[in-house]
Amino acid sequence: MIKDYIKLVAVFLVFFITINLEINKVTPPLFSYFFCALILLFGIAAYRRHRTKYVRTMFIVLAAVQFISCLVLPYWILNRSLPLNASWPYFPEVIWTAGTLAVWYYAISFVLIPVAVYLYGRRAWCSFVCGTGATAETIGDSYRTAGPKAAGVPRGFTAFKWVVLALSVAATVLALAGYSRASLFNLVFLVFFILFLRTLLMQAVNIILMPRFGNRIWCRYFCPQGLVAGLISRAGRFALVRDDSLCSRCGTCTRNCSMAVDITGGPAVNRSGECVGCGVCVEVCPQQALSMTTGRVTVPDKAGIPG
Ligand code: SF4
Ligand code: SF4
Repeated sequence: MIKDYIKLVAVFLVFFITINLEINKVTPPLFSYFFCALILLFGIAAYRRHRTKYVRTMFIVLAAVQFISCLVLPYWILNRSLPLNASWPYFPEVIWTAGTLAVWYYAISFVLIPVAVYLYGRRAWCSFVCGTGATAETIGDSYRTAGPKAAGVPRGFTAFKWVVLALSVAATVLALAGYSRASLFNLVFLVFFILFLRTLLMQAVNIILMPRFGNRIWCRYFCPQGLVAGLISRAGRFALVRDDSLCSRCGTCTRNCSMAVDITGGPAVNRSGECVGCGVCVEVCPQQALSMTTGRVTVPDKAGIPG
């Protein structure tokens, strides 16, 4: 366990130092090189630990997406610094600092993500495209069983992402009203969004405490993008389906769920907005009782009620 913490502190320090060098324009794109290298390195190890085609494909896609959207397109081709897979409300500043790429960030934030999530579930963003999701799935792959699960998650704790979303909306409205040029606005943004949210919670806590709280601490408790994607996914076509004629209620799926979805005890057709569609529960189920669908659900639950 100590080795795990040492490894994760080293990863955090690499991220922290290189991203700050990049913010200060000292050595861009050093962070992106390290980030892509770590995703590739841990992604290969994670790929080898898993056996289903779906989960393995996820590792390949997310590594390719990070390489293209964090390094190749912004730095090698467009000569810009913001990753193309940044989005509102996770990165509210894309709305007021994007310049000529504003159209792209509006499109990805308000059209592409909502439509993809509605059609294919939250996984379309959180497991295949998001950079923090990529960190969780690769660097955090060994820590899926850590942390509270299902009913063990303190309910009030997950309310914090609503606060982050409200502050993202407030910052956006103020910035569009012209406050982004004021030094007080920039100071509050630096302290809350950059230092508190992104440095302390999204990097330090989310990475270093994985062995204690699991691999998706940020996604589970803090992310405003995940909150919005979850609400859309809940209303959309994606569902995790449990075939109760096969399920033995062993709880293996729930223990392996990084998003603490109550798979064993929840409904047979689960449209929890928390599920990021990583596919690991389907992979580990010894009874092969689980599947994911975006179509009409026909599997009946124990009471014989079709989903
Ligand atoms: S919850 Fe947030 S950080 Fe996690 S994968 Fe989804 S958008 Fe990314
Ligand atoms: S319910 Fe299954 S697919 Fe969804 S996040 Fe949990 S383990 Fe992944």
